[in-house]
Amino acid sequence: MKIFKDKQSLQKEIFQNNGISFIPTMGGLHKGHISLIKKSKKYKFKTLVSIYVNPKQFDNKQEFSRYPKNLKKDIEILKKLKVDYLYTPLFKDIYGFKTKNKIYLDKFSKQLCGKFRKNHFKGVVQVMNRLIEIIKPKYIFMGKKDYQQLFLIKKLISRRNINSKIIACDIIRERNGVAASTRNLKLTKNEFKIASKVYQYIVYIKKKLRTKKIFISKKEIEKKINALGVKNINYIEFRDLKDLKKRNKISNTTNIFIAYYLRNIRLIDNI
Ligand code: AMP
Repeated sequence: MKIFKDKQSLQKEIFQNNGISFIPTMGGLHKGHISLIKKSKKYKFKTLVSIYVNPKQFDNKQEFSRYPKNLKKDIEILKKLKVDYLYTPLFKDIYGFKTKNKIYLDKFSKQLCGKFRKNHFKGVVQVMNRLIEIIKPKYIFMGKKDYQQLFLIKKLISRRNINSKIIACDIIRERNGVAASTRNLKLTKNEFKIASKVYQYIVYIKKKLRTKKIFISKKEIEKKINALGVKNINYIEFRDLKDLKKRNKISNTTNIFIAYYLRNIRLIDNI
């Protein structure tokens, strides 16, 4: 695996290929990331992983500095997976140039997580716009766990006529149902158990609502989740997976989207 810290040497190498498959990450690699990489390896192009914790997408400086980092372990994982290239840029490499495309921030950036994390999606779209200009990937592999992020990057790509295709990858879960996440590392055993109970409950309630066996208001769902040990729920909403619009009922294309805190650790999921 070749490792690059600056875009000049990276571009010199990768532009010799006739295409690149790209997996943007913030490191702290886990089985969610690994599934994206394995999928990418099935495509015809070489695989490039980036590890960059983007300060612009954290409104809370503490959350940024607390974000788990373990580059040494990440490199071991990537080497084992036979990833071709790793890009670990510094701030200047990403933000020290003028972009060709202006960002496109769809109105949905203000909803769901955007309501609670000011400027988060602006930061996400900015960094992706820049990474795409540097790498010019043919394919970009992204997880449905961060569904709103996936949706907004798809919008950026279509609105700015960017010649990259997004491959959306299924959510990978731990054995207890909790979506794999770098942030899980920070949970205590008991918090991890609570997160599992939240997941199980949402699966249960979704099935009940879909088969119309019961009616339960969102307030009641929140109450139940509070009783499982969650003090702070940002939102729990039913959204259509195609257009991300709110739904009152659960259909085949509706997921339950949730964001909540366990202590100071923010978890999101859609089920
Ligand atoms: P992150 O390092 O958290 O920025 O994530 C990098 C990419 O991995 C994003 O496209 C995420 O959606 C994806 N990802 C993170 N966790 C999971 C998961 N549990 N299942 C599938 N994809 C994931």
